[in-house]
Amino acid sequence: MTVLDRFLKYVTFDTQSSEETATTPSTPGQRVFAEALVKELEAIGMEEISLDEHSYVMATLPANTDREIPTIGFIAHLDTSPDMSGKDVQPRIVTYQGGDIVLDAEENVVLSLSMFPELSDYKGQDLIVTNGKTLLGADDKGGVAAIMAAMQYLKDHPEIEHGKIRIAFTPDEEIGQGADHFDVEKFGCDWGYTIDGGQIGELEYENFNAAGAKVIFKGLNVHPGYAKDKMLNASLRAIEFASWLPEGQRPEHTTGYEGFFHLTGMTGSVEEATLSYIIRDHDRKLFEEKKELLRTLVDRMNEAYPGCARLELRDQYYNMREVVEPQKHIVDLAFEAMTSVGVEPIVKPIRGGTDGARLSFMGLPCPNIFAGGLNFHGRYEFLPVRSLEKSMETVVAIIQLTVDK
Ligand SMILES: [Zn+2]
Repeated sequence: MTVLDRFLKYVTFDTQSSEETATTPSTPGQRVFAEALVKELEAIGMEEISLDEHSYVMATLPANTDREIPTIGFIAHLDTSPDMSGKDVQPRIVTYQGGDIVLDAEENVVLSLSMFPELSDYKGQDLIVTNGKTLLGADDKGGVAAIMAAMQYLKDHPEIEHGKIRIAFTPDEEIGQGADHFDVEKFGCDWGYTIDGGQIGELEYENFNAAGAKVIFKGLNVHPGYAKDKMLNASLRAIEFASWLPEGQRPEHTTGYEGFFHLTGMTGSVEEATLSYIIRDHDRKLFEEKKELLRTLVDRMNEAYPGCARLELRDQYYNMREVVEPQKHIVDLAFEAMTSVGVEPIVKPIRGGTDGARLSFMGLPCPNIFAGGLNFHGRYEFLPVRSLEKSMETVVAIIQLTVDK
């Protein structure tokens, strides 16, 4: 089976994850997919195949040499985004001739060049697109397919010398829980790579430091006709508080390495109001300063209105650069691997997080590598076939280069 065949098979599994259930995996479809992958791993001839209660799949390709070579791992996720249905995905391969691609003529869903100018990079290539009704699932079945096909390739080419290789497929990455039950010790790798990036060439080892904050305001409600000098309106205090945060540090005004405060939600009555924020910054010092600013502003509110405001602050994840940079050879190896298969590496900071970030802080340094798809999480998602093939070739090249190091 080619990497393309595998991909087209994997997207037929509905593995949309869900924020609503409190189980792992969050949806039963992920288990079904995991079980199917276990069968394929057996067919490939992998060893130490395991599927645990939370549907984490792990397997080993044993070393075929006696030389001392580090054990490295490759990781992809089973689920697709909760944002859009992944049921009855009907992929279509089109040879892109330029211009727009009509996905669904009836509903007039068009993958248009004006909306997605990056399409022009793929002129003359075969693109896998959706029928306009679902997402495609290249995030991250592209990664699963690349890893599976690479394992098959190495099995078929025993003349390629390699160390012990571990692979893992994880549930619920899209709801931020992919690392929750990941057994780093059992995985037993010196380092790893998630194959979960977007366009061809992507290589990422910097992500945000992240925290979630809730500011809760207590008011005092009395009959509005007799409220003079008595009423404290929690909603108004919340609005005032929100206006104190620097306007330039909002997602809509930031890019590159600029961090932000993002108001993700608000509720309010006279009696009580809450503001929910996420705080993001690549720089640890600026990240800490952002959290400190929230504390200072809460204090300021309480000076004016004693006992009015309360802050709940929780760190979510940290920038993996802290962990990966001291072992830069992990990134250099991926860079060299891409170059060796004719791919130009694009190294850029992630304006978000990855499972690899959390795994890095759990003891498994884990940069992220492209799986090739674009426009993730929606009906305009597409995957150039060549990019998928190059993702698989990059995995093989990393394994080969690890031997020579
Ligand atoms: Zn993903």
